[in-house]
Amino acid sequence: MTTTSPRPPSSTGASSGTPGGGPTDRGDRTDRAVGVRLEGLQRRFGDVAALDGLDLELEPGELVALLGPSGCGKTTALRVLAGLERADAGRVLVGGRDLARVPAHRRDMGVVFQAYSLLPHLDALDNVAFGLRLRGVGTAERRRRAMEALELVGLSAQAHRFAPQMSGGQQQRVALARALAVEPQVLLLDEPFSALDAKVREQLREEVRRIQTQVGTTTLLVTHDQEEALSVADRVGVVRAGRLEQLASPQELYRRPATAFVAEFVGQVNRVPCRVVGSGQDARAQVLGALLPLLPGSASDGTTALLRPEDVSLELAGAAPAPGLPAGLPGTVVEVVFLGAASRAAVRLDGGGDPVLVHLTGRSAAADVGARVLVRTAEVPVLVR
Ligand code: ATP
Repeated sequence: MTTTSPRPPSSTGASSGTPGGGPTDRGDRTDRAVGVRLEGLQRRFGDVAALDGLDLELEPGELVALLGPSGCGKTTALRVLAGLERADAGRVLVGGRDLARVPAHRRDMGVVFQAYSLLPHLDALDNVAFGLRLRGVGTAERRRRAMEALELVGLSAQAHRFAPQMSGGQQQRVALARALAVEPQVLLLDEPFSALDAKVREQLREEVRRIQTQVGTTTLLVTHDQEEALSVADRVGVVRAGRLEQLASPQELYRRPATAFVAEFVGQVNRVPCRVVGSGQDARAQVLGALLPLLPGSASDGTTALLRPEDVSLELAGAAPAPGLPAGLPGTVVEVVFLGAASRAAVRLDGGGDPVLVHLTGRSAAADVGARVLVRTAEVPVLVR
């Protein structure tokens, strides 16, 4: 199995990216890695438009997560790419080649589904070797490559176990090894961790990230789990009703959402009343007593700012404010939820409106229900609707 030297470590594995644009930092990918383009994909099932003009681009060697609510068309997109589903319109290009006339079994893709789908009468090694056998690889070579793939997923010691003798996480590792053993041009992962418990899911997704970085195979991961998408992907594509809403690095998606849908689907946001002052480049949103720059995509006549709870802070009313900070707006704490490493307070502002959620971290950050507080925002750009 061909592997590349690992990329520089990065907590999110992220590269910079812009909506619809490609990342630039991919110098260490294999020459073999191919780019993937989905262009204007349409697919209807009766009245349902599962895909409604979906565009998506994966750079060679990139791991892109397709994220979106249930029924938005993620799996259909993956199945069209794999050749398991036909599109009514649009194109699938891999390495610049249009795959319209290429059937699924000739598409050179490895697929891992949610269900482990191992053959129960074969042990792990033979399950992994199975795809190689279908491709006419000889016995000795097949066993060598299958063992190599099992080593890659850390399961060489379990090579002779049958599916019922393995945990769900181990079975999914075997399924991954099976997909990788054929050295596919493209790796497709359809909710591969969702049947596993939280701890195993987290371990396995880190494992997948490590392996994908090592082998450098262009990979599409379909998930509805935002934490999963943000933690493993180079870029995340958010899908809504069969269309791509935004494609960007995890940080960009979180910090600079292009639409209210993305802001609200990825993480939590407060909808805070605001007023836009100035125009063009000089436009600012007056929010919680501060003047904040506007993110692209903001409405110049908008009246609601989308603010992350961690961008909002509070202090007890009457405490001397830190110098240089805006005054903040007065309110009353109406709820505090303990989250372990942090707490989240809800503050009803004296001016009315929905309670503002405030993310509180650190032992000193405490607030009791009923406390009078001042709420202020960090100096961050905001999306205004
Ligand atoms: P989930 O996260 O729940 O798996 P998804 O984003 O992957 O959802 P898809 O499975 O792609 O969504 O389905 C998109 C829409 O198309 C849904 O409304 C679904 O019910 C419908 N759909 C998908 N496949 C078929 C089919 N074979 N026949 C009829 N409708 C279908």
